[in-house]
Amino acid sequence: MAGNLGRSERIDIMRKIRELTRSMIVELSNGSSKMIAIDRFKNYCINSIENCCCRFNLSEGKEILTLQRESHVRRLDVLLRVLLIIQQLLRENRHSSKRDIYYMHPSVFTDQSVVDRAINDICILLQCSRHNLNVVSVGNGLVMGWLRFAEAGRRSDCIKKPNSAHSIPVQVEEVTDIASPANYILVVEKESVFQRLANDHFCSRNRCIVISGRGYPDVPTRRFLRLLVDVLALPAFCLVDCDPYGFDILTTYRFGSMQMAYDAKYLRIPQLHWLGAFASDSDTYNLPQQCLIPLTLEDKRRTEALLLRCYLRREVPHWRLELESMLQRGVKFEIEALSVHNISFLSEEYLPSKIESELTKGK
Ligand SMILES: [Zn+2]
Repeated sequence: MAGNLGRSERIDIMRKIRELTRSMIVELSNGSSKMIAIDRFKNYCINSIENCCCRFNLSEGKEILTLQRESHVRRLDVLLRVLLIIQQLLRENRHSSKRDIYYMHPSVFTDQSVVDRAINDICILLQCSRHNLNVVSVGNGLVMGWLRFAEAGRRSDCIKKPNSAHSIPVQVEEVTDIASPANYILVVEKESVFQRLANDHFCSRNRCIVISGRGYPDVPTRRFLRLLVDVLALPAFCLVDCDPYGFDILTTYRFGSMQMAYDAKYLRIPQLHWLGAFASDSDTYNLPQQCLIPLTLEDKRRTEALLLRCYLRREVPHWRLELESMLQRGVKFEIEALSVHNISFLSEEYLPSKIESELTKGK
């Protein structure tokens, strides 16, 4: 589903759109109320390992949209409207954000999530990725460090100022000529941590690339990270808060999100290592009690739900142990809490020691 979006690919997607609408018209003229069948994908289940049959990129049955159900009629209405917009974008070779599309018919779409679901359904129906539809995200991700690349022929040289943030390109399919002398890639959950590392000149002192998706990572951030990992073949580490939200963000990087499970093959980073923060770090690094925040009922419920995900049992059982330990301790903490002893503790001690031990483990 990935690849450069050339003219022939655009023509191919437009052909698929015509075929899809034609098949719907045929169903209608045959008097059938069954309009379309959409493959359903998921990236995890909550079954035991013996009963799990999750496979990346394989559909798990179909959802049939029919004219007999009011909710389906509404979804079909939205789907056809979005399809029309996409057809126009492709014909004129223009790009648009999901937000722009929402504002084309806000009273019909009623909510952004309705448009998002239609775009995902269309990707599944046309067997393509979102960028193939000329639908782009507003870029949220940041990168700094030992990295050079070109974006649509324009050179980006992060190495000149390795401690300055650059925006992650929105159209990742146009990124070429990636070069880096870095030893590893570090992904940090939050912008505040990214800024802390920039202020501490972390990349000048450590030959690395640092990336942040600023919370839940968007598609360009995940695709860019995946591209770097594939092209540069560097180890990649991830630093998130010690709480269920941080852990969920970590799983989004490593396994992809449920909403875009149909594209997980191109979005997930199977090589991503979890660097911390672990519940046990609060002992190892002597965090004072006032830095530890009690888990709320909602935190506990979310953590228990996370523990059930099959991919953790299958691929990273040691992650589950850390999650269970957080639940047992009943407390969470933010990365920033590590600054309690010294503002540069994170960049001068915590990260170098953790990364050093991961790199020697890998040898
Ligand atoms: Zn499963």
